[in-house]
Amino acid sequence: MAAERHHILLLAGTQEARLLAKALADAFPERRLTVSFAGAVRDLPELDVPVRVGGFGGVAGLIDYAGRDKVSLIIDATHPFAARMSGNAVEAARALDLPLIRLERPQWTSEPGDRWHPVASTTEAAARLPAGARAFLAIGRKDIQLFCRRTDIFGLVRMIEPPSAPLPEHWKLILKRPPLSAEEEIALFQTHRISHVVTKNSGGMSSYAKIDAARRLGLDVIMVERPVLAETETVPDIRAVIRALGSAP
Ligand code: NAP
Repeated sequence: MAAERHHILLLAGTQEARLLAKALADAFPERRLTVSFAGAVRDLPELDVPVRVGGFGGVAGLIDYAGRDKVSLIIDATHPFAARMSGNAVEAARALDLPLIRLERPQWTSEPGDRWHPVASTTEAAARLPAGARAFLAIGRKDIQLFCRRTDIFGLVRMIEPPSAPLPEHWKLILKRPPLSAEEEIALFQTHRISHVVTKNSGGMSSYAKIDAARRLGLDVIMVERPVLAETETVPDIRAVIRALGSAP
């Protein structure tokens, strides 16, 4: 019975969430842990903990799952742009009176030499690129179609798995998972004569090299700002999650 009371549901979706899963299993071997993935990419990591894949079916589905599986604590370690999942977690935790901790890595901030143009959405980012731009697009599978209408630009698209619809013929697709070094990014941008980098403000180090490279080459960066998430207890790193759980029931 006591073991059932300690069931941690970890909502994953980032490299950090994978590291957190391991850290939790090491720190709290007596607690049950389930790691949940949206299933947006097929290439799931090998984790030594139980994994579930796919949406819960909105807030009602998450409440149902958490109630049925006796979840005692939810950790939201989804991507900072996964606003719907984060909102659902807040609502479900409230409804079930469960503790919820969000792991949210700090966002990137501009430094001297950066040429950032902040925008509120990927739609705005696509509109902001000038005609003739040679854009490096690191914005994910879900949003790439917004840019494909811009046949007046060249797009160098990098993502983990191929897009669901073809890209314009004169564009180039690279399938690769970060991290890369700033030197690799500089070489890539120079080879393709990139003029603009388009990215979400994801934060963290694993995909920061492109920001560093853009600064060093003096490139314009269209920076999509983070969505505002429903408020909940938020910590910035894995160590803080482990600390917070040490005092959780
Ligand atoms: P979202 O719009 O917040 O989520 C959409 C739905 O996917 C959720 O309502 C939920 O479905 C399901 N879902 C999301 N994360 C889940 C998880 N960990 N476990 C189970 N179901 C989950 O977020 P998104 O569509 O995943 O991503 C939005 C943006 O975030 C993307 O465009 C991308 O730029 C960025 N991003 C996300 C991830 C990721 O793995 N989530 C990774 C990298 C980047 P139900 O409502 O049915 O439960």
